[in-house]
Amino acid sequence: MLFRVFVKKELETLYEILAVNHVVGPTSRGMAKRGKELFAFDYLYDFQDLRLDFTTTTHSLKPFVLPFQETLSSFIIEDGSWEKHVDLNIYKQHVFFGVHACDINALNKLDKVLSEQAYPDPFYTGKRRNMFIIGIDCHPQPFCFCRSMGTDTVLHGFDMYLTDLGDSYFVEIQSARAWDILQQIPTAEPDEEDHRRFVETVEARNREFSCQVDTSDLTKILDLEFQSPVWEEWGKQCLSCGTCANVCPTCYCYGVSEHVDLDLQGASKIRQLYSCNLIDFAEVAGGHNFRPDSSSRLKYRYYHKHRGFQEAFEESLCVGCGRCGQACLAGITVPDVIASVRGQEEENE
Ligand code: SF4
Ligand code: SF4
Repeated sequence: MLFRVFVKKELETLYEILAVNHVVGPTSRGMAKRGKELFAFDYLYDFQDLRLDFTTTTHSLKPFVLPFQETLSSFIIEDGSWEKHVDLNIYKQHVFFGVHACDINALNKLDKVLSEQAYPDPFYTGKRRNMFIIGIDCHPQPFCFCRSMGTDTVLHGFDMYLTDLGDSYFVEIQSARAWDILQQIPTAEPDEEDHRRFVETVEARNREFSCQVDTSDLTKILDLEFQSPVWEEWGKQCLSCGTCANVCPTCYCYGVSEHVDLDLQGASKIRQLYSCNLIDFAEVAGGHNFRPDSSSRLKYRYYHKHRGFQEAFEESLCVGCGRCGQACLAGITVPDVIASVRGQEEENE
């Protein structure tokens, strides 16, 4: 691991060097009704639009690697023979400038399913390999519980990672290309004072975390509480809208459908992200629905995140970003659901 520091005014130069690629970063989307500023990851064309002081974005980077809808293949018939066309939709290198640890961890978790299995998904994997990621420390929000999920820091999956020391950035370098790029701006070896300020900054941030989830023995507790009445209670509140999966950085379930042109001269195969909370998620041919009620679907989502993925990969599929709870119209949050399953009072706001 290599570390450097550079003064803040060099950030714009770094941005301009990288701007020969597509640059995606956190940017303001205006104010919500209650005076809260909204942020989104979007393509940037001006350094001034980059907002590294962002709180959290409604969506993570997932739409850039796993779009809501993607054409997997298309077919056309010409002169009596057909042609297949596959576009992996991978073009210029994408630079993601300013990504919090939880969202980098979310991509690392998606990799385990979509890139690191016997049959990698070429659409996802191609986009993933085309990413240059600059991470940055967050300011914990009252609804984030990433610390409980062990995702408040990140060990890999980025090129460089910035920590704001006030007048300078402390940079952790993880790739040769990040090292090469940093040769183009003035940087220095961190000295004792930088080390001290780095530790102080990290400790100050750690004190900001307020929301927690007790994950101790959670897989066993979920096994024991599979028939618990709390699932019925949460199911009654759930609107089965699927918004939680839509905003979740690690939900990857999808459906594939085939569409034939009216003139029968073309067709396409389309993938659309789906949610296990939607009413027909577990419906099979013939009309039988294995999870016809909202409580069994909501329960399934929690068991996949905190039980099944844990068994398969020895880690949870939840990074504790809190987005699902913020977006849920029924006010269902992970900390509240897990606390109720454990028989605890709901402690977090
Ligand atoms: S938990 Fe909330 S966001 Fe998710 S499906 Fe139910 S109502 Fe919608
Ligand atoms: S389940 Fe909720 S808190 Fe966990 S990663 Fe998904 S959106 Fe974030």
